[in-house]
Amino acid sequence: MKHRDLLKRIGIKWRIFGGFAIFTLLILVLLWMFQVVFLDNFYKFIKTNEIRSSAESLVETMNSDDFIDTVNSICQNTQINIMVTNEKGQILYKFFAMPTGIAERFSRVNSPLYLTQVYDVAESQGGTYLERSQHGGPGMGGPQRDGRMAEPETILYARTAVKSDGTKLMFLLTSNISPVTATVNTLRVQLTYITVIMLILALVLAVILARHISQPIVRINQTAGRLAHGDYDVTFEEKGYREVAELAHTMNYAASELSRTETLRRDLIANVSHDLRTPLTMITGYSEVMRDLPGENTPENVQIIIDEATRLTTLVNDMLDLSKLQSGTQTYLRENFNLTQSLRTILLRYSKLTDYNITFSADCDVTVCGDELKISQVFYNLVNNAITYTGPDKVVDIRQIVHDGKVRVEVRDTGEGIPQDKLNDIWDRYYKVDKEHKRAQIGTGLGLSIVKTILDMHGGAYGVSSQEGVGSVFWFELDIVEE
Ligand code: ADP
Repeated sequence: MKHRDLLKRIGIKWRIFGGFAIFTLLILVLLWMFQVVFLDNFYKFIKTNEIRSSAESLVETMNSDDFIDTVNSICQNTQINIMVTNEKGQILYKFFAMPTGIAERFSRVNSPLYLTQVYDVAESQGGTYLERSQHGGPGMGGPQRDGRMAEPETILYARTAVKSDGTKLMFLLTSNISPVTATVNTLRVQLTYITVIMLILALVLAVILARHISQPIVRINQTAGRLAHGDYDVTFEEKGYREVAELAHTMNYAASELSRTETLRRDLIANVSHDLRTPLTMITGYSEVMRDLPGENTPENVQIIIDEATRLTTLVNDMLDLSKLQSGTQTYLRENFNLTQSLRTILLRYSKLTDYNITFSADCDVTVCGDELKISQVFYNLVNNAITYTGPDKVVDIRQIVHDGKVRVEVRDTGEGIPQDKLNDIWDRYYKVDKEHKRAQIGTGLGLSIVKTILDMHGGAYGVSSQEGVGSVFWFELDIVEE
Protein backbone atom coordinates (compact mmCIF):
# COMPACT_ATOMS: atom_id res chain seq x y z
CA MET A 1 0.00 0.00 0.00
CA LYS A 2 2.73 2.39 1.04
CA HIS A 3 4.82 1.33 -1.87
CA ARG A 4 1.99 2.12 -4.24
CA ASP A 5 1.57 5.52 -2.59
CA LEU A 6 5.21 6.18 -3.19
CA LEU A 7 4.92 5.22 -6.81
CA LYS A 8 1.95 7.51 -7.23
CA ARG A 9 3.95 10.48 -6.05
CA ILE A 10 5.26 12.73 -8.74
CA GLY A 11 9.00 12.62 -9.31
CA ILE A 12 11.18 15.66 -8.75
CA LYS A 13 11.72 15.96 -12.50
CA TRP A 14 8.03 16.48 -13.18
CA ARG A 15 7.60 18.71 -10.17
CA ILE A 16 10.28 21.10 -11.35
CA PHE A 17 8.91 20.91 -14.84
CA GLY A 18 5.40 21.71 -13.58
CA GLY A 19 6.59 24.56 -11.38
CA PHE A 20 8.61 26.02 -14.20
CA ALA A 21 5.72 25.76 -16.64
CA ILE A 22 3.32 27.44 -14.20
CA PHE A 23 5.82 30.21 -13.55
CA THR A 24 6.28 30.84 -17.27
CA LEU A 25 2.55 30.84 -17.88
CA LEU A 26 2.03 33.30 -15.04
CA ILE A 27 4.59 35.69 -16.48
CA LEU A 28 3.02 35.39 -19.90
CA VAL A 29 -0.47 35.98 -18.55
CA LEU A 30 0.81 39.05 -16.74
CA LEU A 31 2.47 40.30 -19.91
CA TRP A 32 -0.75 39.74 -21.86
CA MET A 33 -2.78 41.52 -19.25
CA PHE A 34 -0.57 44.58 -19.19
CA GLN A 35 0.32 44.75 -22.86
CA VAL A 36 -3.00 43.84 -24.37
CA VAL A 37 -5.89 43.90 -21.92
CA PHE A 38 -4.98 46.91 -19.80
CA LEU A 39 -3.03 48.75 -22.47
CA ASP A 40 -5.95 51.01 -23.33
CA ASN A 41 -6.53 52.11 -19.76
CA PHE A 42 -2.85 52.58 -19.09
CA TYR A 43 -2.41 54.63 -22.16
CA LYS A 44 -5.38 56.82 -21.29
CA PHE A 45 -4.18 57.29 -17.77
CA ILE A 46 -0.69 58.32 -18.86
CA LYS A 47 -1.97 60.54 -21.64
CA THR A 48 -4.45 62.33 -19.38
CA ASN A 49 -1.71 63.03 -16.88
CA GLU A 50 0.51 64.27 -19.65
CA ILE A 51 -2.16 66.71 -20.81
CA ARG A 52 -2.70 67.99 -17.28
CA SER A 53 0.99 68.60 -16.69
CA SER A 54 1.38 70.23 -20.13
CA ALA A 55 -1.44 72.65 -19.26
CA GLU A 56 0.31 73.47 -16.00
CA SER A 57 3.60 74.22 -17.73
CA LEU A 58 1.76 76.48 -20.19
CA VAL A 59 0.25 78.40 -17.26
CA GLU A 60 3.66 78.66 -15.63
CA THR A 61 5.35 80.06 -18.72
CA MET A 62 2.50 82.22 -20.08
CA ASN A 63 4.04 85.46 -18.76
CA SER A 64 7.55 84.71 -19.91
CA ASP A 65 9.41 84.59 -23.20
CA ASP A 66 9.64 80.81 -22.93
CA PHE A 67 5.95 80.46 -23.73
CA ILE A 68 6.38 79.78 -27.44
CA ASP A 69 9.23 77.33 -26.75
CA THR A 70 7.03 75.47 -24.27
CA VAL A 71 4.17 75.32 -26.75
CA ASN A 72 6.46 74.01 -29.48
CA SER A 73 8.03 71.37 -27.34
CA ILE A 74 4.59 70.17 -26.15
CA CYS A 75 3.29 69.98 -29.72
CA GLN A 76 6.36 68.14 -30.95
CA ASN A 77 6.84 65.71 -28.12
CA THR A 78 3.32 64.90 -27.04
CA GLN A 79 1.01 65.22 -30.03
CA ILE A 80 -1.26 67.55 -28.13
CA ASN A 81 -3.15 70.33 -29.89
CA ILE A 82 -3.16 73.61 -28.10
CA MET A 83 -5.53 76.53 -28.45
CA VAL A 84 -5.46 79.71 -26.43
CA THR A 85 -8.71 81.68 -26.14
CA ASN A 86 -9.94 84.61 -24.11
CA GLU A 87 -12.89 84.44 -21.78
CA LYS A 88 -15.24 85.29 -24.63
CA GLY A 89 -14.26 82.22 -26.55
CA GLN A 90 -12.21 84.06 -29.16
CA ILE A 91 -9.26 82.02 -30.33
CA LEU A 92 -5.99 83.83 -29.83
CA TYR A 93 -3.54 81.11 -30.89
CA LYS A 94 -3.79 77.65 -32.39
CA PHE A 95 -1.04 75.11 -32.37
CA PHE A 96 -1.94 71.84 -34.02
CA ALA A 97 0.38 68.95 -33.52
CA MET A 98 -1.73 66.33 -35.20
CA PRO A 99 -2.32 65.76 -38.86
CA THR A 100 -5.13 67.97 -40.10
CA GLY A 101 -7.42 64.97 -40.61
CA ILE A 102 -7.49 64.35 -36.93
CA ALA A 103 -7.42 68.01 -36.05
CA GLU A 104 -10.59 68.52 -38.01
CA ARG A 105 -12.46 66.38 -35.56
CA PHE A 106 -12.14 69.18 -33.10
CA SER A 107 -13.94 71.60 -35.42
CA ARG A 108 -16.68 72.41 -32.99
CA VAL A 109 -14.03 73.64 -30.63
CA ASN A 110 -13.78 76.59 -32.96
CA SER A 111 -17.27 77.76 -32.03
CA PRO A 112 -16.97 80.77 -29.68
CA LEU A 113 -20.25 79.86 -28.03
CA TYR A 114 -18.99 76.44 -27.11
CA LEU A 115 -15.67 77.86 -25.94
CA THR A 116 -17.40 80.37 -23.68
CA GLN A 117 -19.40 77.54 -22.18
CA VAL A 118 -16.23 75.59 -21.58
CA TYR A 119 -14.62 78.66 -20.02
CA ASP A 120 -17.54 79.15 -17.65
CA VAL A 121 -17.65 75.53 -16.60
CA ALA A 122 -13.87 75.52 -16.04
CA GLU A 123 -14.08 78.69 -13.95
CA SER A 124 -16.86 77.22 -11.87
CA GLN A 125 -14.78 74.06 -11.29
CA GLY A 126 -11.74 75.89 -9.99
CA GLY A 127 -10.04 76.52 -13.34
CA THR A 128 -10.06 73.14 -15.04
CA TYR A 129 -12.44 71.18 -17.22
CA LEU A 130 -11.99 67.73 -18.67
CA GLU A 131 -14.09 66.09 -21.31
CA ARG A 132 -13.59 62.72 -22.92
CA SER A 133 -15.27 61.53 -26.03
CA GLN A 134 -15.28 58.09 -27.60
CA HIS A 135 -16.73 59.23 -30.92
CA GLY A 136 -15.05 62.03 -32.68
CA GLY A 137 -13.48 65.02 -31.08
CA PRO A 138 -14.76 66.77 -28.00
CA GLY A 139 -17.58 68.97 -28.82
CA MET A 140 -18.35 67.09 -32.04
CA GLY A 141 -21.63 66.02 -30.53
CA GLY A 142 -22.67 62.48 -31.29
CA PRO A 143 -21.14 59.49 -32.96
CA GLN A 144 -19.13 59.96 -36.09
CA ARG A 145 -18.23 56.50 -37.21
CA ASP A 146 -17.15 55.95 -40.73
CA GLY A 147 -18.18 52.32 -40.47
CA ARG A 148 -14.69 50.92 -41.04
CA MET A 149 -13.00 51.39 -37.76
CA ALA A 150 -13.83 52.83 -34.37
CA GLU A 151 -12.83 56.42 -33.81
CA PRO A 152 -10.09 56.86 -31.26
CA GLU A 153 -11.09 58.28 -27.93
CA THR A 154 -10.24 61.94 -27.56
CA ILE A 155 -9.82 64.24 -24.62
CA LEU A 156 -10.32 67.92 -24.16
CA TYR A 157 -8.75 69.67 -21.23
CA ALA A 158 -9.36 73.30 -20.44
CA ARG A 159 -7.34 75.36 -17.99
CA THR A 160 -8.17 78.99 -17.27
CA ALA A 161 -5.58 81.46 -16.10
CA VAL A 162 -5.11 85.20 -15.68
CA LYS A 163 -2.02 86.77 -17.17
CA SER A 164 0.03 89.30 -15.27
CA ASP A 165 -1.54 92.13 -17.33
CA GLY A 166 -5.00 90.98 -16.19
CA THR A 167 -6.01 89.23 -19.45
CA LYS A 168 -8.15 86.22 -18.82
CA LEU A 169 -7.01 83.25 -20.85
CA MET A 170 -8.09 79.67 -21.42
CA PHE A 171 -5.70 76.96 -22.57
CA LEU A 172 -7.50 74.29 -24.46
CA LEU A 173 -5.56 71.07 -24.96
CA THR A 174 -6.93 68.29 -27.11
CA SER A 175 -5.45 64.93 -28.02
CA ASN A 176 -6.12 61.34 -28.90
CA ILE A 177 -6.01 59.11 -25.87
CA SER A 178 -6.51 55.76 -27.56
CA PRO A 179 -3.35 53.88 -28.35
CA VAL A 180 -2.56 53.70 -32.03
CA THR A 181 -4.14 50.57 -33.48
CA ALA A 182 -1.04 49.63 -35.44
CA THR A 183 1.07 49.69 -32.30
CA VAL A 184 -1.44 47.56 -30.44
CA ASN A 185 -1.54 45.06 -33.27
CA THR A 186 2.24 44.88 -33.44
CA LEU A 187 2.35 44.30 -29.71
CA ARG A 188 -0.18 41.50 -30.02
CA VAL A 189 1.70 39.75 -32.79
CA GLN A 190 4.97 40.16 -30.90
CA LEU A 191 3.42 38.78 -27.75
CA THR A 192 2.08 35.76 -29.60
CA TYR A 193 5.57 34.99 -30.85
CA ILE A 194 7.08 35.63 -27.43
CA THR A 195 4.50 33.34 -25.83
CA VAL A 196 5.32 30.48 -28.16
CA ILE A 197 9.09 30.98 -27.84
CA MET A 198 8.89 31.35 -24.06
CA LEU A 199 6.80 28.21 -23.68
CA ILE A 200 9.19 26.14 -25.77
CA LEU A 201 12.20 27.62 -23.97
CA ALA A 202 10.57 26.99 -20.59
CA LEU A 203 9.89 23.39 -21.47
CA VAL A 204 13.43 22.78 -22.66
CA LEU A 205 14.95 24.57 -19.67
CA ALA A 206 12.66 22.78 -17.23
CA VAL A 207 13.58 19.40 -18.64
CA ILE A 208 17.31 20.17 -18.52
CA LEU A 209 17.08 21.61 -15.02
CA ALA A 210 14.93 18.79 -13.73
CA ARG A 211 17.32 16.22 -15.13
CA HIS A 212 20.26 18.07 -13.68
CA ILE A 213 18.66 18.09 -10.24
CA SER A 214 17.06 14.69 -10.23
CA GLN A 215 19.79 12.59 -11.77
CA PRO A 216 22.36 12.90 -8.95
CA ILE A 217 19.60 12.12 -6.43
CA VAL A 218 18.56 9.07 -8.43
CA ARG A 219 22.19 7.95 -8.48
CA ILE A 220 22.56 8.46 -4.72
CA ASN A 221 19.37 6.50 -4.20
CA GLN A 222 20.69 3.59 -6.24
CA THR A 223 23.95 3.56 -4.31
CA ALA A 224 22.05 3.81 -1.01
CA GLY A 225 20.02 0.78 -2.11
CA ARG A 226 23.24 -1.19 -2.50
CA LEU A 227 24.37 0.03 0.90
CA ALA A 228 21.08 -1.10 2.42
CA HIS A 229 21.72 -4.55 1.01
CA GLY A 230 24.96 -4.77 2.95
CA ASP A 231 27.49 -3.58 0.37
CA TYR A 232 29.53 -1.31 2.62
CA ASP A 233 32.21 -0.64 0.02
CA VAL A 234 29.97 1.65 -2.02
CA THR A 235 31.12 5.19 -2.76
CA PHE A 236 28.68 8.03 -3.27
CA GLU A 237 29.87 10.48 -5.92
CA GLU A 238 30.48 13.82 -4.23
CA LYS A 239 29.78 15.72 -7.43
CA GLY A 240 27.10 18.05 -8.71
CA TYR A 241 25.56 20.98 -6.88
CA ARG A 242 26.36 21.71 -3.26
CA GLU A 243 23.38 20.11 -1.50
CA VAL A 244 23.78 16.86 -3.40
CA ALA A 245 27.55 16.84 -2.85
CA GLU A 246 26.89 17.38 0.87
CA LEU A 247 24.32 14.59 0.91
CA ALA A 248 26.77 12.30 -0.85
CA HIS A 249 29.45 13.27 1.64
CA THR A 250 27.15 12.49 4.58
CA MET A 251 26.15 9.20 2.96
CA ASN A 252 29.81 8.31 2.49
CA TYR A 253 30.40 9.06 6.14
CA ALA A 254 27.39 6.96 7.11
CA ALA A 255 28.64 4.13 4.89
CA SER A 256 32.09 4.22 6.46
CA GLU A 257 30.57 4.31 9.95
CA LEU A 258 28.28 1.39 9.07
CA SER A 259 31.20 -0.51 7.70
CA ARG A 260 33.20 0.19 10.86
CA THR A 261 30.30 -0.85 13.08
CA GLU A 262 29.95 -4.00 11.06
CA THR A 263 33.64 -4.81 11.52
CA LEU A 264 33.34 -4.04 15.22
CA ARG A 265 30.26 -6.25 15.44
CA ARG A 266 32.10 -9.13 13.81
CA ASP A 267 35.07 -8.55 16.09
CA LEU A 268 32.72 -8.39 19.04
CA ILE A 269 31.24 -11.78 18.29
CA ALA A 270 34.72 -13.19 17.80
CA ASN A 271 36.04 -11.50 20.96
CA VAL A 272 33.09 -12.16 23.18
CA SER A 273 32.79 -15.77 22.15
CA HIS A 274 36.52 -16.15 22.65
CA ASP A 275 36.48 -14.29 25.94
CA LEU A 276 33.53 -16.30 27.19
CA ARG A 277 34.81 -19.59 25.91
CA THR A 278 38.28 -19.38 27.46
CA PRO A 279 37.15 -19.11 31.10
CA LEU A 280 34.31 -21.56 30.48
CA THR A 281 36.73 -24.12 29.04
CA MET A 282 39.01 -23.61 32.00
CA ILE A 283 36.15 -23.95 34.49
CA THR A 284 34.79 -27.07 32.80
CA GLY A 285 38.28 -28.56 32.41
CA TYR A 286 39.33 -28.02 36.00
CA SER A 287 35.97 -29.16 37.38
CA GLU A 288 36.16 -32.39 35.37
CA VAL A 289 39.73 -33.04 36.51
CA MET A 290 38.69 -32.45 40.13
CA ARG A 291 35.70 -34.73 39.74
CA ASP A 292 37.65 -37.56 38.12
CA LEU A 293 40.90 -37.30 40.04
CA PRO A 294 40.26 -36.88 43.78
CA GLY A 295 43.91 -35.85 44.32
CA GLU A 296 43.37 -32.76 42.10
CA ASN A 297 40.73 -31.33 44.40
CA THR A 298 43.17 -28.72 45.69
CA PRO A 299 42.52 -25.16 46.88
CA GLU A 300 44.71 -23.87 43.97
CA ASN A 301 42.50 -25.54 41.39
CA VAL A 302 39.37 -24.26 43.10
CA GLN A 303 40.97 -20.77 43.04
CA ILE A 304 41.51 -21.07 39.28
CA ILE A 305 37.84 -21.90 38.84
CA ILE A 306 36.87 -18.95 41.05
CA ASP A 307 39.23 -16.61 39.12
CA GLU A 308 37.83 -17.68 35.78
CA ALA A 309 34.27 -17.31 37.03
CA THR A 310 35.19 -13.82 38.28
CA ARG A 311 36.55 -12.93 34.85
CA LEU A 312 33.33 -14.04 33.30
CA THR A 313 31.37 -11.93 35.76
CA THR A 314 33.57 -8.91 34.99
CA LEU A 315 33.02 -9.34 31.29
CA VAL A 316 29.27 -9.67 31.62
CA ASN A 317 29.14 -6.78 34.10
CA ASP A 318 31.15 -4.55 31.76
CA MET A 319 28.80 -5.31 28.92
CA LEU A 320 25.77 -4.66 31.07
CA ASP A 321 27.25 -1.45 32.51
CA LEU A 322 27.99 -0.04 29.14
CA SER A 323 24.65 -0.87 27.63
CA LYS A 324 22.89 0.59 30.68
CA LEU A 325 25.06 3.71 30.58
CA GLN A 326 24.54 4.22 26.89
CA SER A 327 20.82 3.54 26.92
CA GLY A 328 20.52 6.26 29.55
CA THR A 329 18.47 4.06 31.89
CA GLN A 330 21.03 4.36 34.66
CA THR A 331 20.67 7.50 36.70
CA TYR A 332 23.73 8.98 38.24
CA LEU A 333 24.16 10.88 41.45
CA ARG A 334 25.28 14.44 41.63
CA GLU A 335 26.93 14.98 44.96
CA ASN A 336 30.12 16.56 46.20
CA PHE A 337 32.89 14.19 47.17
CA ASN A 338 36.59 14.34 47.89
CA LEU A 339 38.14 13.07 44.66
CA THR A 340 41.68 12.90 46.03
CA GLN A 341 40.54 10.80 48.94
CA SER A 342 38.57 8.56 46.61
CA LEU A 343 41.64 8.00 44.39
CA ARG A 344 43.80 7.21 47.43
CA THR A 345 41.29 4.62 48.65
CA ILE A 346 41.21 2.92 45.27
CA LEU A 347 44.99 2.83 45.04
CA LEU A 348 45.17 1.17 48.46
CA ARG A 349 43.56 -1.87 46.86
CA TYR A 350 46.47 -2.12 44.44
CA SER A 351 48.99 -2.27 47.29
CA LYS A 352 48.88 -6.03 47.09
CA LEU A 353 50.50 -5.85 43.65
CA THR A 354 53.92 -5.49 45.20
CA ASP A 355 55.80 -6.19 41.97
CA TYR A 356 54.27 -3.03 40.39
CA ASN A 357 55.66 0.38 41.10
CA ILE A 358 52.47 2.45 41.40
CA THR A 359 53.03 6.04 42.50
CA PHE A 360 50.52 8.76 43.28
CA SER A 361 51.06 12.47 43.69
CA ALA A 362 48.45 15.11 44.44
CA ASP A 363 49.06 18.81 45.03
CA CYS A 364 46.04 19.16 47.33
CA ASP A 365 42.71 17.58 48.19
CA VAL A 366 39.92 18.61 45.83
CA THR A 367 36.16 18.24 45.88
CA VAL A 368 34.20 17.55 42.72
CA CYS A 369 30.53 17.04 42.00
CA GLY A 370 29.32 13.80 40.45
CA ASP A 371 28.76 10.12 40.99
CA GLU A 372 31.66 8.87 43.10
CA LEU A 373 31.10 5.26 42.16
CA LYS A 374 31.18 5.98 38.45
CA ILE A 375 34.22 8.26 38.66
CA SER A 376 35.93 5.45 40.59
CA GLN A 377 35.04 3.14 37.72
CA VAL A 378 36.75 5.53 35.31
CA PHE A 379 39.85 5.59 37.47
CA TYR A 380 39.84 1.81 37.91
CA ASN A 381 39.65 1.25 34.20
CA LEU A 382 42.53 3.63 33.48
CA VAL A 383 44.74 2.18 36.20
CA ASN A 384 43.90 -1.39 35.16
CA ASN A 385 44.82 -0.60 31.57
CA ALA A 386 48.05 1.05 32.68
CA ILE A 387 48.94 -2.03 34.74
CA THR A 388 48.07 -4.31 31.83
CA TYR A 389 49.98 -2.40 29.20
CA THR A 390 52.91 -0.89 31.12
CA GLY A 391 56.44 -1.90 30.23
CA PRO A 392 58.76 -4.41 31.93
CA ASP A 393 59.73 -1.84 34.58
CA LYS A 394 56.08 -2.07 35.73
CA VAL A 395 55.87 1.63 36.48
CA VAL A 396 52.46 3.29 36.73
CA ASP A 397 52.56 6.95 37.67
CA ILE A 398 49.38 8.74 38.74
CA ARG A 399 49.20 12.50 39.16
CA GLN A 400 46.48 14.81 40.28
CA ILE A 401 47.03 18.37 39.08
CA VAL A 402 44.89 21.42 39.87
CA HIS A 403 44.69 24.24 37.36
CA ASP A 404 42.15 26.93 36.34
CA GLY A 405 39.40 25.65 38.58
CA LYS A 406 39.74 22.12 37.22
CA VAL A 407 41.37 18.99 38.50
CA ARG A 408 43.25 16.83 36.07
CA VAL A 409 44.03 13.19 36.78
CA GLU A 410 46.80 11.62 34.70
CA VAL A 411 47.61 7.92 34.54
CA ARG A 412 50.99 7.26 32.97
CA ASP A 413 52.54 3.98 31.95
CA THR A 414 55.79 3.02 30.30
CA GLY A 415 54.33 0.51 27.86
CA GLU A 416 54.54 0.17 24.12
CA GLY A 417 52.20 3.09 23.57
CA ILE A 418 49.44 3.36 21.01
CA PRO A 419 49.94 4.21 17.33
CA GLN A 420 48.78 7.77 16.55
CA ASP A 421 46.21 6.59 13.98
CA LYS A 422 44.55 4.38 16.60
CA LEU A 423 44.26 7.03 19.30
CA ASN A 424 40.72 7.97 18.31
CA ASP A 425 39.50 4.40 17.86
CA ILE A 426 40.43 3.05 21.29
CA TRP A 427 37.41 4.83 22.82
CA ASP A 428 35.07 2.75 20.66
CA ARG A 429 33.25 -0.25 21.99
CA TYR A 430 35.10 -3.56 21.67
CA TYR A 431 38.06 -1.88 20.03
CA LYS A 432 41.42 -3.45 20.73
CA VAL A 433 44.63 -2.20 19.17
CA ASP A 434 46.45 -5.48 19.27
CA LYS A 435 44.05 -8.29 18.72
CA GLU A 436 46.62 -11.06 18.55
CA HIS A 437 48.54 -10.81 21.74
CA LYS A 438 47.71 -10.89 25.40
CA ARG A 439 44.01 -11.08 24.63
CA ALA A 440 43.35 -13.73 27.19
CA GLN A 441 44.68 -11.43 29.92
CA ILE A 442 43.46 -8.18 28.49
CA GLY A 443 39.89 -7.08 29.10
CA THR A 444 36.88 -6.81 26.95
CA GLY A 445 37.61 -3.78 24.83
CA LEU A 446 34.83 -2.06 26.74
CA GLY A 447 36.84 -0.30 29.45
CA LEU A 448 37.62 2.94 27.62
CA SER A 449 34.17 3.04 26.15
CA ILE A 450 32.77 3.00 29.70
CA VAL A 451 35.28 5.73 30.68
CA LYS A 452 34.17 7.87 27.77
CA THR A 453 30.46 7.43 28.47
CA ILE A 454 30.79 8.27 32.17
CA LEU A 455 32.95 11.33 31.54
CA ASP A 456 30.60 12.54 28.82
CA MET A 457 27.76 12.25 31.34
CA HIS A 458 29.74 14.37 33.80
CA GLY A 459 30.71 16.90 31.15
CA GLY A 460 34.37 16.17 31.86
CA ALA A 461 37.17 16.37 29.31
CA TYR A 462 39.38 13.36 28.68
CA GLY A 463 42.09 12.23 26.33
CA VAL A 464 45.26 10.36 25.74
CA SER A 465 48.71 11.15 24.50
CA SER A 466 50.98 8.34 23.60
CA GLN A 467 54.41 7.78 22.18
CA GLU A 468 55.24 4.43 20.77
CA GLY A 469 57.99 2.70 22.75
CA VAL A 470 57.79 5.30 25.54
CA GLY A 471 54.32 4.94 27.03
CA SER A 472 50.88 6.50 27.24
CA VAL A 473 49.24 9.14 29.42
CA PHE A 474 45.49 8.82 29.87
CA TRP A 475 43.86 11.83 31.53
CA PHE A 476 40.53 13.26 32.51
CA GLU A 477 39.41 16.58 33.96
CA LEU A 478 36.54 17.57 36.25
CA ASP A 479 35.37 20.92 37.59
CA ILE A 480 36.43 21.63 41.16
CA VAL A 481 33.67 22.57 43.58
CA GLU A 482 34.65 25.26 46.09
CA GLU A 483 33.46 24.31 49.54
P1 ADP B 1 40.55 -3.47 27.02
O1 ADP B 1 39.59 -4.05 27.97
O2 ADP B 1 40.84 -4.30 25.84
O3 ADP B 1 41.74 -2.86 27.67
P2 ADP B 1 39.81 -0.76 26.68
O4 ADP B 1 38.60 -0.16 26.12
O5 ADP B 1 40.14 -0.45 28.08
O6 ADP B 1 39.71 -2.30 26.42
O7 ADP B 1 41.00 -0.35 25.76
C1 ADP B 1 40.88 -0.42 24.37
C2 ADP B 1 42.22 -0.66 23.72
O8 ADP B 1 43.05 0.48 23.91
C3 ADP B 1 42.96 -1.77 24.35
O9 ADP B 1 42.63 -3.00 23.78
C4 ADP B 1 44.38 -1.40 24.07
O10 ADP B 1 44.77 -1.87 22.80
C5 ADP B 1 44.38 0.09 24.08
N1 ADP B 1 44.87 0.64 25.35
C6 ADP B 1 44.13 1.03 26.39
N2 ADP B 1 44.90 1.51 27.40
C7 ADP B 1 46.17 1.41 26.98
C8 ADP B 1 47.45 1.72 27.55
N3 ADP B 1 47.56 2.25 28.77
N4 ADP B 1 48.56 1.47 26.80
C9 ADP B 1 48.44 0.96 25.56
N5 ADP B 1 47.27 0.63 24.97
C10 ADP B 1 46.16 0.85 25.65
